[in-house]
Amino acid sequence: MTADSKNPETIVLHAGHRADPTTGAVAVPIYQTTSYQFDNAEHARKLFALEELGNIYTRIMNPTQSVLEERVTAIDGGAAALAVSSGQAASALAIQNLASSGDNIISSTDLYGGTWNLFANTLPSMGIEVRFVDPEDPEAFRRATDDRTRAYYAETLPNPKLHVFPIKEVADIGREYGIPLIMDNTAAPLICRPFQHGAAINVYSLTKYIGGHGTSIGGMIVDSGSFDWEAHPERQPNLNTPDPSYHGAVWVEAVKPMGPIAYIMRARTVMLRDLGAATTPSNAFNFIQGLETLPLRMERHCQNAAAVADYLAGHADVTKVIYPGQQDGEARRRADTYMSAYGGLLGFELKGGREAGRKFIDSLEMFYHVANIGDARSLAIHPATTTHSQLTPEEQLATGVTDGYVRLSIGIEHIDDIIADLDQALAAAG
Ligand code: PLP
Repeated sequence: MTADSKNPETIVLHAGHRADPTTGAVAVPIYQTTSYQFDNAEHARKLFALEELGNIYTRIMNPTQSVLEERVTAIDGGAAALAVSSGQAASALAIQNLASSGDNIISSTDLYGGTWNLFANTLPSMGIEVRFVDPEDPEAFRRATDDRTRAYYAETLPNPKLHVFPIKEVADIGREYGIPLIMDNTAAPLICRPFQHGAAINVYSLTKYIGGHGTSIGGMIVDSGSFDWEAHPERQPNLNTPDPSYHGAVWVEAVKPMGPIAYIMRARTVMLRDLGAATTPSNAFNFIQGLETLPLRMERHCQNAAAVADYLAGHADVTKVIYPGQQDGEARRRADTYMSAYGGLLGFELKGGREAGRKFIDSLEMFYHVANIGDARSLAIHPATTTHSQLTPEEQLATGVTDGYVRLSIGIEHIDDIIADLDQALAAAG
């Protein structure tokens, strides 16, 4: 019964594992092994030929990792997933699985800084061009498209602006051309379901909300199974032409008997096999622990952030609150259309500018001052003097970072303690 549940609260505890068949262990075991004994020569041959699915080597798959993959797939409503060593590896592999030297992808400008660097410098150095467009105008994706465009890419809830991405608008344009939309849903697991709005692939940094406890770095690529890779075969040569690295397999055909999972099978058996950004069994275990309480934690993150947004909006030293629930116009419409709650992130601007921002951060007692988001603990950072300090003042403004901007990732502590810490730090920053 539970195996078929559509409810995330049940899925995260029960999908993919019900007591270890050998020992009866209830918690998902950490299968700390590199390799797996084959039944016989024929079994080994079938596994390598992809005639049968099974464990071969932990760089490519592992039973602890499989439970994690199955659970994230189920909460996203996808077909299959691949866990990797970091969120960065997830973004890179998700794109490299489709785009080769000479190809391009089109990305929203509103990105996490690490992804920005990957797109602005590292992918181009490998011959993959990244064309940046303003997400406020979905049609900009169409205008930037040419014959070598292999994917569109965006973040659901990018900070610091916290403007929700127009998922359906851009996914629909892509589907006309055979171009999948890849969504980085790191900041909005459960509260946004990109596949319901036409996205083809989700990527996650598991490091954030899904892990939830700041212990492990990891990433995930989830395949919706709903994208027709064969509709425009010339658009997706990696999946529609013989792959010399897998004895000439044409992925969309070779994988058909296993379901609509050609994209993720190639990501696993070619990209992960060759580039090696594998997760570890113990990190997969840590993420399973985090995932088991994600629905409860997300509820509390969102509840607390809404209360903090209200508190800040009424504070005399705060000139602006940046929070999806306090936006209006098109930004608010997108937030209400694509998310079931407004998330745990918010930003605000201090009247006293850069100096007040610095003082505020130094005066926090409970909040941690770290360059991270999505931890169970509350976190704060002053981007103008840290994450965005290498940018010119004009570039800072273009990304939405003003001198007095402070970013908060609201944790799951008691709301009274969160507000009390903000209150005393605001008084000190005066
Ligand atoms: N995507 C987003 C939205 C992020 O915030 C981050 C990290 O901060 C990443 C991807 C990269 O994830 P990781 O640090 O796990 O490589």
